[in-house]
Amino acid sequence: MVLHARAHRERDGYSGMTVTGFDSGLADIAGKVESSQRLTYEDGIRLYASSDIHTLGELANTVRERFHGRTAYYNVNRHINYTNYCVLRCKFCSFYRPYVKRQVEAGPDGSLPVVAQDHTGGYELSVEQVVERASEAYAQGSTEVHIVGGLHPKLPFSYYLDLCRGIREACPRMHIKAFTAIEIIHLARIARPRLTISEVLTQLREAGLDSLPGGGAEIFDDRVHDETFKNKVGEAEWFEVHRAAHELGIFSNATMLYGHVETPAERINHLIKLREHQDESIRSRQARFNCVVPLSFIPDGSALEHLPGPTGLDDLKTLAICRLMLDNIPHIKAFWIMQSPKLAQVSLNWGVDDIDGTVVYYDITKREGQADDRTQQSLTVDQLKRMICEAGCTPLERDSLYRQVTRADGGWTVSDA
Ligand code: SF4
Repeated sequence: MVLHARAHRERDGYSGMTVTGFDSGLADIAGKVESSQRLTYEDGIRLYASSDIHTLGELANTVRERFHGRTAYYNVNRHINYTNYCVLRCKFCSFYRPYVKRQVEAGPDGSLPVVAQDHTGGYELSVEQVVERASEAYAQGSTEVHIVGGLHPKLPFSYYLDLCRGIREACPRMHIKAFTAIEIIHLARIARPRLTISEVLTQLREAGLDSLPGGGAEIFDDRVHDETFKNKVGEAEWFEVHRAAHELGIFSNATMLYGHVETPAERINHLIKLREHQDESIRSRQARFNCVVPLSFIPDGSALEHLPGPTGLDDLKTLAICRLMLDNIPHIKAFWIMQSPKLAQVSLNWGVDDIDGTVVYYDITKREGQADDRTQQSLTVDQLKRMICEAGCTPLERDSLYRQVTRADGGWTVSDA
């Protein structure tokens, strides 16, 4: 394959950029990829150390095409962040606000703002407001609502059940993908009487929850945990939630927040832990990870603002290495909010097969220069399709479980992709 890649580029008159050529010592890894052998920790370390970025991209693309051909997935979805009040203070997080009693100013006509914010920008949405946003998205053709928020110190467990029930009632076919592992653990702690993780998941599912989005994994490493999110649950608890979900038949995704204080070796260890969990889920559980979402750290507004964040090349390398290391997880997503639409588009030839969806509102991260009230971040279906087609791929609208969505006469149906 390496020789093939070189011939390909010589034919196209490619002269290289920062690459060291195709004698960069990746030939044995290329051989393993060609014969579908699992890559080791040492292989992952060597891939990160290599400056032969074109071979890396080509290898990742080989695996991507083995899974999906030239298909690239997108969906029509809506993100809703129900509150940014949080009892924790993760250093990489620019989203949270400490809880204060809201002092909401009425407008000149006496009306209250739709999203009531306190003077710090902290807010919480009522169940009715969340259901209203979901209903609006459903009416506009969204097949999925993606709901996460901070760990609110006052909202009761019933709020979360009512939220799922309300959406399920108003939007019967909409997939509810909601709550990170730390939120699920928070709910187990605040429920009265106290509940186990499985009991929380079971009650949420009965109320309408369909799957878990997979956030909060950060980097599975004690050093990184102590340095950047010491008070948040660690890897054991994160896996406990996903193990319980998979045992109950609830599918989930998994994330990796990269580009802050972690090393490449710690990233590779993170990926191997996900791979091992997936092996177990495939072997003995009813559900598994659908997708891995590597999240590019955005320092702006966080306690780690002094860090530079990942470069474009680091983004591309990481996405490609995720594809190569995670041989048992079908989908690798470039979440365009984090990697940017342009880089997400390029990554479609670097191992990525999914660029997420229309999103519309996203409060979790904002790049420098975005005012606090500018949370609207959306791409249209036409823009998503254009990105995919220009990358030489075939767009396929998927639902949350990667089944094909077909639209006709203002409605939509789902069939296996
Ligand atoms: S990352 Fe999540 S748990 Fe940590 S401070 Fe932000 S909202 Fe809270």
